[in-house]
Amino acid sequence: MNSNFVDRDLAVLWHPCTQMKDHETLPLILIQRGEGVWIEDVDGKRYIDAISSWWVNLFGHANPRINAAIKAQLDKLEHVILAGFSHEPVITLSERLVQITPEGLSRCFYADNGSSAVEVALKMSFHYWRNLGQYKKTRFISIDNSYHGETLGALSVGNVPLYREIYGPLLLDTIVAPSPDCFDREPGVSWEAHSRQQFAAMETLLVRHAEEVCAVIIEPLVQCAGYMRMYHPAYLSLLRAACDRYGIHLIADEIAVGFGRTGTMFACEQADISPDFMCLSKGLTGGYLPLAVTLMTDEIYRAFYDDYENLTAFLHSHSYTGNPLGCSAALATLDIFAGQPVLENNVTLAKCMHDLTEDLQEHPYVAEVRQHGMILAIEMIKDKKSREPYPWQERRGLKVYRHALGKGVLLRPLGNVIYLMPPYIITPEQIETVVNVAKEGIDLATRD
Ligand SMILES: *Cc1c(COP(=O)(O)O)cnc(C)c1O
Repeated sequence: MNSNFVDRDLAVLWHPCTQMKDHETLPLILIQRGEGVWIEDVDGKRYIDAISSWWVNLFGHANPRINAAIKAQLDKLEHVILAGFSHEPVITLSERLVQITPEGLSRCFYADNGSSAVEVALKMSFHYWRNLGQYKKTRFISIDNSYHGETLGALSVGNVPLYREIYGPLLLDTIVAPSPDCFDREPGVSWEAHSRQQFAAMETLLVRHAEEVCAVIIEPLVQCAGYMRMYHPAYLSLLRAACDRYGIHLIADEIAVGFGRTGTMFACEQADISPDFMCLSKGLTGGYLPLAVTLMTDEIYRAFYDDYENLTAFLHSHSYTGNPLGCSAALATLDIFAGQPVLENNVTLAKCMHDLTEDLQEHPYVAEVRQHGMILAIEMIKDKKSREPYPWQERRGLKVYRHALGKGVLLRPLGNVIYLMPPYIITPEQIETVVNVAKEGIDLATRD
């Protein structure tokens, strides 16, 4: 590896979500090129990007269609202020998003990253109730083990202790409901039965706090940063109906699960529900450029529409809101979905992921293999019978990470959970390579 670059990097960079001291022993990998499912480092070593570069990439690196769209847009307009001005890519993208998202979502408000899209939904929900004269509504209900981003508002409605705990004193006072996550269900209980049981506690909170709660925020079907824990769509149906009953907004954070990850274009479709707000980012641009959008209903939009002097407007903005290059990448991404049977092909890929990992269910140190569509997670465990987890300090997942890198596969376990969330252009043969490497890594990491 070109150590000169590494030294230069470590002299001036502070990498995200990283204890920088780890890099005294952990190699930093310099990528110079990407193509399809592959990323290539400066020594020419290639890695299969089995985690879509942090869940953003959908159709491969250097996708010819998306590349062409961005290049064409670049020669026309790179960026323009979106207040008072507009541009064709953002208009067309908004029309198409309204078309493909669940019914009732009719407006697009843009931001430039997922956390900001969550902030928009939280602020807008609160502000909606104020515009209606409901001043008591100042709180949010979130789900245990959820993740909605790193800014203080988004972190407030997140509940993964690793990211949240230290900042606790700075955060909003939110109400936390137990997760519908099915990992800890009793033996013999189905996903559906467990997720339904878990709803009872949510119902109690909704009854008790209806007057002071603006919205419930939830990640539909998969708590991605929360160790890829999964649940049954029945929970979402129950939640939608209850939010309507108690006059509370439902915010669906599909930043990670949107655009086909769980098998349907949006995870909400599997519960046949429409949220009041939907947050999208990550796959929105096919993994190319930072862009995020919060969609909402006409009813919410109307509550802000008034004479300026009444001060009901949503005076929120981000500098790069609705960036034309990002919008052109998003449009090209939607063109690929429209022009090819992507979701149909993914059924085959998802089955391939399932079949190749099925035997891991019997592994003495694997608690569970779970899957929703194109997201498959394998949870390692110290004691399968007592369900005692490996202590986090042992960093078993890191052993899998290192092994996989050596074998030319990018996996990035979350604690003891190894997961596959590949770009949709991956082949069954490449899935087989990834799974074999993951299995070797799991054997190594659980050996002692
Ligand atoms: C990644 C993620 C976010 C935050 O998005 P950023 O662009 O990283 O700020 C929010 N919610 C979910 C569910 C995510 O996975």
